[in-house]
Amino acid sequence: MTCACALANKGYEVRVFEKQPVLGGYCQNFKRKGFTFGAAIHRVGGIYGRDNVNCILKEVGVTQLPEWYSFREKVQVGDRVINMCNSNVAESLKTIFPEESENIQRFWDEVMKINDLLTTIDEGANEGIARFEPKDLELLKKYRTVSIDEFLSEFFVNEEIKGILVAVSDAMPGGAVFAFVRMVAFANCSELTYQPVGGASAIIKALADRIVELGGEILLNSPVEKIIMEDGQAKGVICKGKEYYSDYIITNCDMNTTLYNLVGEEYLNPRLVKKVREKFTESPSCFSVWLGLDKDVKELGYEPGNLTYYPEKDSVLSDKAKLIADGSVQRDNDFVLISLSANNDPKSSPEGKGQIMIGMMCNYDFENLAELRKTNMQEYRKRKTEVAHRLVKKVEKFFPGLSDHIEVMETASPATFERYTGNSKGAYGGYKCTPDLVENYSAIDGKQLVKNLFATGHWGGVGDGVIFTTDMAMRVADKVLTCDMRKDLYDYNKKIS
Ligand SMILES: Cc1cc2nc3c(=O)[nH]c(=O)nc-3n(C[C@H](O)[C@H](O)[C@H](O)COP(=O)(O)OP(=O)(O)OC[C@H]3O[C@@H](n4cnc5c(N)ncnc54)[C@H](O)[C@@H]3O)c2cc1C
Repeated sequence: MTCACALANKGYEVRVFEKQPVLGGYCQNFKRKGFTFGAAIHRVGGIYGRDNVNCILKEVGVTQLPEWYSFREKVQVGDRVINMCNSNVAESLKTIFPEESENIQRFWDEVMKINDLLTTIDEGANEGIARFEPKDLELLKKYRTVSIDEFLSEFFVNEEIKGILVAVSDAMPGGAVFAFVRMVAFANCSELTYQPVGGASAIIKALADRIVELGGEILLNSPVEKIIMEDGQAKGVICKGKEYYSDYIITNCDMNTTLYNLVGEEYLNPRLVKKVREKFTESPSCFSVWLGLDKDVKELGYEPGNLTYYPEKDSVLSDKAKLIADGSVQRDNDFVLISLSANNDPKSSPEGKGQIMIGMMCNYDFENLAELRKTNMQEYRKRKTEVAHRLVKKVEKFFPGLSDHIEVMETASPATFERYTGNSKGAYGGYKCTPDLVENYSAIDGKQLVKNLFATGHWGGVGDGVIFTTDMAMRVADKVLTCDMRKDLYDYNKKIS
């Protein structure tokens, strides 16, 4: 949507194909008995996230920006509660662990060094310049293939500190250091977290309105079935049997679908296919529960913020690894996200009522749910409900009496996320951000997969979430402008910095 809007704003005729009756993918809302629930996004990010999205919307000509609300986002590791957005992570950690001050400082200095280097490289990449010095190469080489787990072990033996750092950065075991560094630095930006009134779908609505205002067309219930290939070039798409020709095609649907179903392997560069097959894997999925409550959360004494709870302080990384491993099952040590942030939006629940979203990251075959959905629907529903009830029970530690106030309960397994959005294995964020991805993503990032076909969204590069996907979309719009030798690029990364 961002890319379509950015191009429409530059005078291109755009047509958006959405296979669902609703726009937005993971950014959409859904309604149940008067409650409006966000399908996935429980926060856009700290102040940088809000400003970044607003900046992009302004860039593409949106005049009516979403209203935003702010709230506290906490993590609890064992019994220790920490503000997830913290303008001074290192100093806070030193206060908690004074005996580790030296290690914390060493860690922090290295994080900042890598972060500054990544920023310089990103800025250069936008200008088409390789902007780093030979000494920087050493640093890049050193951490290129290192995982978060290995990086943390370079500085700390204390598992609790490692766990806190993983928790505040929402990091994934086996993930790439570069992504981790970005997330830790990002947590360092502001004290509060932001979300638009109306949820992430308010951003989608602003973009959709602008696209239509610019004469663009948005087709709902319109799955793209094939990308038309002629002379090795993408020439258009087929939707519901009808051909639509165009100069450029931009895909943000699942990369496997784009490559193998929409384009067809016979048209792809075999080196690209090999890289994608051998080096890239889907990110984990999620299990989510949405609860509509018969009372306002404040009346129940609940704070309308977000909390992520890691029950066991000394095994955050290994517990998370178990949850996203093949064949994972529900365990007491599973972390859980409890989101009450939507309650800051008075229209999200009927008058006098409230809502909670409970979620956790998990593997596609978590509790065998994906398989059961195919083979035994009754057992699938039963198992899904059992998982949901155990999650509610866990959450009652923080919100006593919660079960007595549930009016509506909706659940989603990885198979649900896959079914609604087409993301393979219900992946929450495109490809898993591993060292392998970081090393090889340039094969897809901002490149034409075949001539005239670009990928945007969370499958298009290294990253996920609203901030990444909107950034990515602006970069892809610039690629199209560049193909047409236009000089009026958005070059927006420079503007936001
Ligand atoms: C449970 C969960 C919680 C999350 N929480 C957050 C959060 O709090 N904050 C955050 O920033 N990020 C969060 N994320 C990640 C974030 O939602 C995604 O990274 C981001 O929204 C991806 O956007 P996208 O446009 O790339 O893809 P998607 O949102 O997957 O959109 C793809 C769109 O393409 C459509 N489509 C697919 N195939 C076709 C086809 N053949 N023809 C036409 N249309 C098609 C789909 O219907 C969909 O609308 C979360 C993800 C999940 C699953």
